[in-house]
Amino acid sequence: MRFPMICLMLSALIPGQAAAQPAEASASLNQAAIYSRPFEPAVPLALLPLPPGAVEPAGWLRDWARSARDGITGHLDEWHPTFADGWKGIPIQAPGAKPDGTGWPLEQCAYWLDGAIRLGFVLHDEALIRKIRARLDPVVDGVNKAGFGTTFIYWKQGYKPDGFESWAHSQLGRALVALYQGTGDRRVLDALAKVYADYPSKMGNIDLGGGQVSGLCNLDPMLETYSYSGDPRILDRALQAISQPEVAQEIRRWPEGRLSPGHMDIFYENIRLPAVAYPWSGDTHHLDATLAAFKWLDENHMLPYGVASGEEFASGIGAFRKTETCDITSMLLASSWMYRIQGARTWGDRMERAFFNAAAAVADRDFRAMCYYQSPNRIQSAALPCEQPNCPGPEGNRFHQLGCPTVLCCVGAINRIIPNFIIHMWMATRDNGLAATLYGPSVVAARVGAGTPVRIVTTTDYPFGESIRMRVMPQAAVEFPLYVRIPGWCGNASITVDGAPFPARPDSRGFVRILRTWAGSAVIDITLPMHPEVVRGYETEFPSANREYFSFEPAQVFQFRRLPYASVFYGPLLFALPITEVDSNTPVGNPKWQYAINTDPRTRDDGIRVVRQPMPAHWDWSPDAPVALEAPARAFDWRPTDAQALPDGPIEGSGSETIRLVPYGCTKFRISMFPVTAGAWRTGSP
Ligand SMILES: [Zn+2]
Repeated sequence: MRFPMICLMLSALIPGQAAAQPAEASASLNQAAIYSRPFEPAVPLALLPLPPGAVEPAGWLRDWARSARDGITGHLDEWHPTFADGWKGIPIQAPGAKPDGTGWPLEQCAYWLDGAIRLGFVLHDEALIRKIRARLDPVVDGVNKAGFGTTFIYWKQGYKPDGFESWAHSQLGRALVALYQGTGDRRVLDALAKVYADYPSKMGNIDLGGGQVSGLCNLDPMLETYSYSGDPRILDRALQAISQPEVAQEIRRWPEGRLSPGHMDIFYENIRLPAVAYPWSGDTHHLDATLAAFKWLDENHMLPYGVASGEEFASGIGAFRKTETCDITSMLLASSWMYRIQGARTWGDRMERAFFNAAAAVADRDFRAMCYYQSPNRIQSAALPCEQPNCPGPEGNRFHQLGCPTVLCCVGAINRIIPNFIIHMWMATRDNGLAATLYGPSVVAARVGAGTPVRIVTTTDYPFGESIRMRVMPQAAVEFPLYVRIPGWCGNASITVDGAPFPARPDSRGFVRILRTWAGSAVIDITLPMHPEVVRGYETEFPSANREYFSFEPAQVFQFRRLPYASVFYGPLLFALPITEVDSNTPVGNPKWQYAINTDPRTRDDGIRVVRQPMPAHWDWSPDAPVALEAPARAFDWRPTDAQALPDGPIEGSGSETIRLVPYGCTKFRISMFPVTAGAWRTGSP
């Protein structure tokens, strides 16, 4: 059952540009928000994304985004044939490539094209946009010149992708949706609509336990295309795809807790699909299924840096468990969809935790190298933790220009992380206001109220500082609500508007609504006080369901285990004991890292002291961080192995010394899941 509400807006609505509406039309459309699409779902989205480019990074975040542009994102095509020749319909000399220009390069190159075009838009970098358009426009032209029934793999006439090729196809679909949203170029929408009006409705299952990617991931570019084009064939096919009996059967298992610990990138991509369909299907089981899957991940596989373990399969909770960089990308993608649908701050909290921690650690400081895997503790290159021999094999834990040179998914996927975070820092609301959804220095340009342009300049060191200043500058006086997210970890936020206190009482979704007539240049000051927080938990066993995949591990890792650990947070940041590096793959000789956390929750801030210094002139995640924590710890004879990263129980003994912790994202070798002393554990055990 579905009930698409078709807005009677006959003017071509170019993304990012409000159609001029007479006042009475605006009133009669009721819910026709400025950023709604010509064809809206039955269940309205809580938050409406702005087109890429509406939010531009500033401050430290701009430095990081420009490093990506000057590093991997801007140059990947110069470094490997997969990215030089992907989607050209020509044979490619690369791992996993097929003679007809399909295979692995389609997936990996699409990741890069999607991330690079988005980065071009958010930085307003015409050279990068031109470079990527030179790759995407031929696909658009190829589709538009081909007969009806073609696909993005237009050079293979009469071909309908399935299996891996259909999945790769979905990734290019996302890139083309971004291209349309960023440019409003009708040719791009024509190509998207032509392909998806005749795309097979049987796109595959969303089996979580297996290692097979699913063509069902075409669902989001399809539904995005439908929201702009309104071709009913697209919506029909999308809803048929999610309603296939085997798909419906799989989705029903999730709320019952019957989820299989599969390949983590595929897991994150797949678990969001029922929720992506939910606004259109109106079936609450779809939303419930996705929520249940996220909860299951939290309980069984979540690592302190905000992304689940995946080596490449789910591997439980542990200090040497690894996360593939692709998983960060797909986690942020899944969370951004949930944010749009539910509008709840928890999705912002999750995205910030993954972005400020996991995403920061995997790129080298100049963004010219990256790693395929990271782990909460990294002590010796290739040994603690050891290389994962199944996939990708040697070099999986080391920084390299191509991530892992033989498996190029991660070096493609990393390019999506920064622009997708920036795009979602502000979203429009259905009452024609704006919501500050993710924090960091930025400038947003959007339309509010009856369509009045406004610029909001956010100046902040966040998450390295607690204060955020927003300067709201409408083109003309205009009444609109501005929603301020209060993170879940912050219990005593304060807000002032032009110096006058404003009650910082969040609504049920975690936002404070500031409704007023904005004129001239108004200033909102937000303070989000942070306090050191010690989170205690247990390292768990590897999932027995993946025993065969992890057969290289000793049997002991599958036996029930509950090894205590503690991690230290400060606001959204995870903190780590840095192990001084010679370079990203080499720690200094004989570093001292053998410590247990010895904090005491009966004392203020667990006895942890915050030390600050000014932000650097250029941001590159240096270990000489602007905020550090001094934490009580006890040295002990700790000899971790790859199979047992943490001691069996709390550490006895006496004495305490102070260790200096820095943001996890500033480290290449580190301890972030610490052993605990008996005192620290007894007073604060979970
Ligand atoms: Zn990958």
